[in-house]
Amino acid sequence: MEQGRSGSIGVVVVAAGRGERAGASVEGPKQYRRIGGKPVISHTLRLFLDWPKSGPIVVVIHPDDRQLLDAAVASLQERERLIVVTGGATRQASVRNGLHALQDHGIDHVMIHDGVRPFVDAPLLERIATELAAGKKAVLPALPVSDTIKRADAFGVVTATVPRKDLFAAQTPQSFHYATILAAHERAAEMQAMDFTDDASIAEWAGIPVHVVEGSIDNVKLTVQRDIAMADEKLRGSALPDVRTGNGYDVHQLEPGDGVTLCGIFIPHDQKLKGHSDADVALHALTDALLATCGAGDIGDHFPPSDMQWKGAPSRIFLEHAAKLVRGAGGTIMNADISLIAEEPKIGPHRQAMREKLAEILDLSLDRCSVKATTNEKIGFVGRREGIAAIATATVVFRGTD
Ligand code: MG
Repeated sequence: MEQGRSGSIGVVVVAAGRGERAGASVEGPKQYRRIGGKPVISHTLRLFLDWPKSGPIVVVIHPDDRQLLDAAVASLQERERLIVVTGGATRQASVRNGLHALQDHGIDHVMIHDGVRPFVDAPLLERIATELAAGKKAVLPALPVSDTIKRADAFGVVTATVPRKDLFAAQTPQSFHYATILAAHERAAEMQAMDFTDDASIAEWAGIPVHVVEGSIDNVKLTVQRDIAMADEKLRGSALPDVRTGNGYDVHQLEPGDGVTLCGIFIPHDQKLKGHSDADVALHALTDALLATCGAGDIGDHFPPSDMQWKGAPSRIFLEHAAKLVRGAGGTIMNADISLIAEEPKIGPHRQAMREKLAEILDLSLDRCSVKATTNEKIGFVGRREGIAAIATATVVFRGTD
């Protein structure tokens, strides 16, 4: 029994069909095909789980599809609210099973929805809920037919043009006063009236007035393979790009020496950078920036300074490791930008070589690699030539999750 949810609208999502018209697929019947990286049924259920007025949600499946359903809902939050039942030989019988499963839940109304209409939207549900709340016993979302309708004979010759003024294309969720539609279903079953293709027809047959509300043009039923391919394109086209930016900052102390390595380039100088590895502050900052884009910690997590094997190591090893991690997580590195803050040596003459080094290490085009430098106007530790600092930014685009 559902507790503590406002409203008392139960939902039956019918997903027991075999979907022969969509052709065979390794993914199973069409309600389990992936669109936008997720099974059709999971998009449909997500909408009802998120809608605040929905109470218990029954999913009616084919007895062979239990594993497919479990996999399809595995990542849905609140999936424990779903009640799974198996369907019957016809859609009508499947709906009846779904209605029975709601019997002890104290609901007033029920929405009966096709599992293969994943683009149902909350405003449509609200339009229906308003009519139900106003006391309508049966509410049908539908759109006026816009094509001219012809009747043709067995030879494919048109015999009439059907006036379309009063014609509507029926959608789901078809929605009802629960006890009323349950009684109509029971009576139809008793009387062996078993050839209804939707629930509004059962209501009509039972003499219940069915009220039309405006459907949604997006609320299409995925029927053939082409529908599924188009739905997939639509979702992928509208998906938010997964662009992530990471930053990194590092400082190393200067001490007397013969030169510094920055961005993998050795620059002769009367000082050197102190550090465990080659102390390439620029590559350290960029390594942190890259790791940040996939939540992989920082350079110290991967290369502890206590580990002797990194003593004097060229820092490109760290950067290569981070790039490999990012790519392994599905990321494409879009750009890398490093700002060096150093009073001396002069960076300008080496900038191009540094960019080329970055491009080589990261396997990026040169225009995606940037190195900039500034002095610290002789103030602070950098200004006093006590150390060199670096700030880095990396942008990585990740593939949508499948
Ligand atoms: Mg460092």
